Amino acid sequence: RNKTMAVRSMLDEMVGVGDAVLLEPLSEDNFLDNLQKRFQHDEIYTYIGNVVVSTNPYKTLPIYDAEMIEKYRGRNLYELPPHIYAVSDLAYRSMKNYGRDQCIMITGESGSGKTEASKLVMKYVAAMSSRSTEVETIKQQLLQSNPVLEAFGNARTNRNDNSSRFGKYMDIEFDFKGDPVGGLITNYLLEKSRVVRHGEGERNFHIFYQILCGASPTMLKKLKLENVENFSYIKQLDANPEDAKSFNEVLNAFDIIGFSRSEVDNVLMLVAAVLKLGNIRFKAISAKNGMDNCTITNMEEHPEVADICEMLSIKPHNLTSALTERTMTARKESVTCTLSANEASYNRDALCKEIYDRLFTWLVNRINSSIKVTTQTNKKCKVMGVLDIYGFEVFEQNGFEQFMINYCNEKLQQIFVELTLREEQEEYVKEGIEWLHIDYFNNAIICQLIESPRSGILSMLDEECLRPGDVTDATLLTKLETVCGKHEHFESRRDTRFLGDKTLPHNAFRIQHYAGKVTYVVENFIDKNNNSLFRNLSTAAFLSLHPLLGGAKGLFPEGDPLTTMLKRPPTSATQFKASMTALMKNLLMKNPNYIRCIKPNEVKRSSVFSSDLVRHQVRYLGLMENVRVRRAGYAFRQKYEDCITRYKMLSTKTWPSWHGPPKEGVKQILLKTKIDPEQYEYGKSKIFIRNPRTLFKLEEYRNAAL
Ligand code: ADP
Ligand code: MG
Repeated sequence: RNKTMAVRSMLDEMVGVGDAVLLEPLSEDNFLDNLQKRFQHDEIYTYIGNVVVSTNPYKTLPIYDAEMIEKYRGRNLYELPPHIYAVSDLAYRSMKNYGRDQCIMITGESGSGKTEASKLVMKYVAAMSSRSTEVETIKQQLLQSNPVLEAFGNARTNRNDNSSRFGKYMDIEFDFKGDPVGGLITNYLLEKSRVVRHGEGERNFHIFYQILCGASPTMLKKLKLENVENFSYIKQLDANPEDAKSFNEVLNAFDIIGFSRSEVDNVLMLVAAVLKLGNIRFKAISAKNGMDNCTITNMEEHPEVADICEMLSIKPHNLTSALTERTMTARKESVTCTLSANEASYNRDALCKEIYDRLFTWLVNRINSSIKVTTQTNKKCKVMGVLDIYGFEVFEQNGFEQFMINYCNEKLQQIFVELTLREEQEEYVKEGIEWLHIDYFNNAIICQLIESPRSGILSMLDEECLRPGDVTDATLLTKLETVCGKHEHFESRRDTRFLGDKTLPHNAFRIQHYAGKVTYVVENFIDKNNNSLFRNLSTAAFLSLHPLLGGAKGLFPEGDPLTTMLKRPPTSATQFKASMTALMKNLLMKNPNYIRCIKPNEVKRSSVFSSDLVRHQVRYLGLMENVRVRRAGYAFRQKYEDCITRYKMLSTKTWPSWHGPPKEGVKQILLKTKIDPEQYEYGKSKIFIRNPRTLFKLEEYRNAAL
């Protein structure tokens, strides 16, 4: 009865349809209407086949408790209303029972609910596995990585109060019993500029506020933060009881993961030092021999600098000269020149961004060393990867970060094309099912424009960064225009086709992404890609005696004054491209599951569904294309044996058991139903069903027969 009700409710006019494949006629408007109807009835999940579309409810729904988890355990997708648990269950079972590694790709724009979704998936999977102490420990460690990474990597933005400012991929590894035995987290491109600057109404990373509001007086004293009221890296300190609470959670999480007391102290000390460094000011002093020169102003006024040097275990002279001077080495000769106050401020910010960014990666590595699979459990593991990464971004003004993020989304679309569209079609061939090939846009051509080793935008960018001489963002643009100008997905003002196009500024290029056109302003591309600190700074950091910061194993190994080879760290573009290639390789080996997140409104409200905003997301997530491919093919397929097990009661020939060839058994069952034979097709090992409606009918017959 319950199931019949569920089936009914899926078809209920009021709530819309649970699977967009059922929409008649299929149109974008209908698709949107359906999402809206469902949203208004708190049905935030909708399928496209086995892809789940999730609309952020912006309110707590009573649909995630232990009872709900039990309800979805081991059930088929179509038996119950759409839910993220159903897809989690599908992935988990297919890993456990068929030994296929899984990945769960969660995409959507900022504030659409990706991170919450990833936590729900983890919660579900944790509930599936056993409760032995050993398993419980590793589960807790895996789950507790979230509060730590969120404290250091999330911030309030205008879009989302808890916005992840980094991309994250987490492999959870399981033993043959389906119990988690470990994991591995990979982080992508932290928005480090936030450390030194954040927009109006936004905040810096949570951890800064958490320390200031949550640390005990003793700890504040140790961190030398007790008497400081204003921090220039923090616009206003809205003292928030939530922050204090979160700080305790973070300390607790550190403890559960296995950080030692002194490791935690070292981490917090670096964060506090960054905050204090931000308060250092420089003022010009009378120029010697015509050169700009400056000194630190706080020296006389505040003991700030001495504090910082103590916290970072750096000799005061090392820090002050690193901030206010630059040494250039050419042909074994080095020249030191002094910096202007502006240049020194830039230096200070660069140092802070770099310390914080590298600390974040250090944290990820440290967590990994706690959760990595230990040798004793090192049997053949099965893996479930969860990807929570920035969605496609188009802002008023788009820069280097948007370019990287959108490149990442092109790569993810490639995976979708490769795995879902291509593999789907291949399965039909394998099973001998006749089917009309569907054309889809293959965005490989855009990936090439960006990443091709010789002529791609990323390698132009690197070339320009490494070229000696007068390199500016403008010379970069000229280079791009010359090399990529003819590419059909690249537009620039040089191209006669766009000469009259006032929407394309002179300092920008435009890419026709699979999800739409984006105009990128090249300002700061060179600087952000360079990603290198002046050597004075990396050397000062290297010479620090702080256990995390200094030394060859510290955060700035390239600062070793004894290395003569001045090997610079790889550029941002190189790093990001390499990490994307590794990610793609990893994902392509796994069975994909998709969660597509949608943000219903810009005001973070539970009752507002802004159709235009949603339409835009539906377009760039490629959801209509997804439904079309799904509809053109067969929404559902099941091994003959499984089909008989579930529906054998529908025919006297197969009930209570069937001993003939499985395909014949399924034929017997379907013959007994009144289902139009057009609706299904017999493959070599599976039955293919066109429309989910057919499944609902089968389920109804089954319920009636039971
Ligand atoms: P994203 O990671 O896509 O930027 P988040 O997962 O951080 O977005 O979600 C933003 C906010 O939306 C959350 O802090 C929470 O308030 C709300 N939210 C998201 N998903 C849900 C959900 N399933 N139920 C209730 N609230 C949600
Ligand atoms: Mg997030």
